[in-house]
Amino acid sequence: MKPSHDEILQAIEIARKAGENSFNFISGNSIGACIIASDGKMFGGCIVENDISGLGVCAERSAIFHAVVEGYYTFKAIVVANHEMIFPCGACLQNLTLFSLITDEPIYVISATFDGNYEIHELSELLPKGYKTNHNLDAIKSFKKHST
Ligand SMILES: [Zn+2]
Repeated sequence: MKPSHDEILQAIEIARKAGENSFNFISGNSIGACIIASDGKMFGGCIVENDISGLGVCAERSAIFHAVVEGYYTFKAIVVANHEMIFPCGACLQNLTLFSLITDEPIYVISATFDGNYEIHELSELLPKGYKTNHNLDAIKSFKKHST
């Protein structure tokens, strides 16, 4: 289900606060994210850079992993927030695509500024041909029961 305007504003605030903790010694760019679970619970994430290529992680995946740590696997939306509007990278969109297989419900991707402007898209709109595995599908879908 599409998040409400109030939910989106709350998620932007969580993303803004998470973004303040960005480990961004390379880019200096603060990027925050907030994933909204199917039941409305929200989890923040921030960019975590690394000086070894490929070891850093984007704010969006940081938020997703934060939710998983707390036992949440089904999501209705993710917010990425910055001082200007940016969109998730392909890797983060692909990562969300995997979680979208658990429920087959749409996941909304919200690009926001820290001061509360946003635009909303469906994940399938931003990554229309994302890889959807046919392997281990039952095992992937079994995580639906773990989510509240
Ligand atoms: Zn990314």
